[in-house]
Amino acid sequence: MAEQQSNTNNEKKPETKFATKLIHFGSEIDEHTGASSVPIYQASTFHHHDIFNPPVHDYSRSGNPTRQALEDYIALLEGGVRGFAFASGMAAISTAFLLFSNGDHVIVTEDVYGGTYRLLTTVLSRLGIDSTFVDMTDFEAVKAALKPNTKAVFMETPSNPTLKITDIAEIAVWAKSHELITLLDNTFMTPYHQRPIELGVDIVLHSATKFLGGHSDVLAGLAVAANESLGRRLKQLQNGLGTVLGSQESWLLMRGMKTLKARMEQSEQSARKLAEWLNGHAAVTRVYYPGLADHPRRDVHEKQSKGYGAVVSFDIGDGERAKAVLSRVKLPLVAVSLGAVESILSYPAMMSHAAMPPEVRHERGISDGLLRYSVGLEDIDDLIADLDQALKG
Ligand SMILES: *Cc1c(COP(=O)(O)O)cnc(C)c1O
Repeated sequence: MAEQQSNTNNEKKPETKFATKLIHFGSEIDEHTGASSVPIYQASTFHHHDIFNPPVHDYSRSGNPTRQALEDYIALLEGGVRGFAFASGMAAISTAFLLFSNGDHVIVTEDVYGGTYRLLTTVLSRLGIDSTFVDMTDFEAVKAALKPNTKAVFMETPSNPTLKITDIAEIAVWAKSHELITLLDNTFMTPYHQRPIELGVDIVLHSATKFLGGHSDVLAGLAVAANESLGRRLKQLQNGLGTVLGSQESWLLMRGMKTLKARMEQSEQSARKLAEWLNGHAAVTRVYYPGLADHPRRDVHEKQSKGYGAVVSFDIGDGERAKAVLSRVKLPLVAVSLGAVESILSYPAMMSHAAMPPEVRHERGISDGLLRYSVGLEDIDDLIADLDQALKG
């Protein structure tokens, strides 16, 4: 199987800022025809014109030019050496965890995405990959979780849905001193707001289904390796497991990613307004948003991120009131997921965290009155007026 090299022509480009990279990422103009978008190579296999000189891509599981363009694109945005595209965020995360083997141990943030928790506790546990869940806002707790067989630390910051902040650089430095691999789920921030590789992280993961895709119309996952040796190992796993993203979805994702900055900037501005407004609302007992002055780790977040993101969680006291609000809102989609052009209101207790025992849920602040608002691109005054009428009932 020919080892595919990155085919971007970035060498020709001047060093550019993030917004320019989003548009001029190397494959934005088709080399053969000058077409203004990456062609969708809807092919499973590639003809060997000369058997002694095989084509760059020989079979689409191992490599497809459309997917390759996307993989180079995300590697460029995250500042890593090699990118990978997968069928979903969970396919990316599962593939990355298979870097580890029977007898290995990983330290994982306790409020990790529900699907990652399920993967670790029901699948990887069966394969002998053991995990310890810790509150990563407590560095001492992270250090105390180290075992002789620990191989990795998995972070997610801000966490879901209570937006707790992990100090990325602090943990990355410590992990390196113990030769641990660091992985970070960067779904909530995207590389526009947070670039973990620059802070010492080894592998960045994404559910590209969310902000990167941005339109609630494609399911995809991405991974970026900070160095060649991890890149080679991930390539072998992606090809061996066959967890790849198809070419149609690869194209759709690139189409969405081009507007990432414009969408994130607008949604974040609105999210800040929403969080401030909720903070002053009599019916709201607590607001979780790293941009609020009273967020306990706002300073840590500001040190490592360029923005606060577009997800705001808030508590309205009890489950009955939460359900009433969900039935009364008229603008947001009431749904699982986040990070889209349309606002999405989720109810963690009955959606993403329904499988968690109520005691554990409550302990982590995921009360029956907690709602999570992912702010889209609607006019913020309309969103606030709508939520206001829903809260008044
Ligand atoms: C949605 C999500 C995932 C899983 O991604 P899928 O694309 O749904 O498989 C992983 N991590 C976070 C933080 C998510 O929000």
